[in-house]
Amino acid sequence: MTIFELMKLIQTKEGAVNIFRRIRWQNGILCPKCGIYESAEKHSKNRLGLQKYRCICGHVFSDTSGTALHKRRIDVRHFLIALYEFSQTKGITIG
Ligand SMILES: [Zn+2]
Repeated sequence: MTIFELMKLIQTKEGAVNIFRRIRWQNGILCPKCGIYESAEKHSKNRLGLQKYRCICGHVFSDTSGTALHKRRIDVRHFLIALYEFSQTKGITIG
């Protein structure tokens, strides 16, 4: 993916959130509390469009739980661009 392709995909907040989700949960949705994959159901969405999940253990977490974005007012798009630049220097593929 080039930076231009990334910019195009994250033009909308929804698009950015979708990409973020794809990177974050590439191995499946993982409950940060009990560590079980795919144990959570979709809960509500917050005002940024981030999905919340409720695990069978009762723990509620969101797309950003356990990441640098959690409880910070960083735009997902800024985060993805930073991640992209990081991936370029470290040779990690995203998308
Ligand atoms: Zn759990």
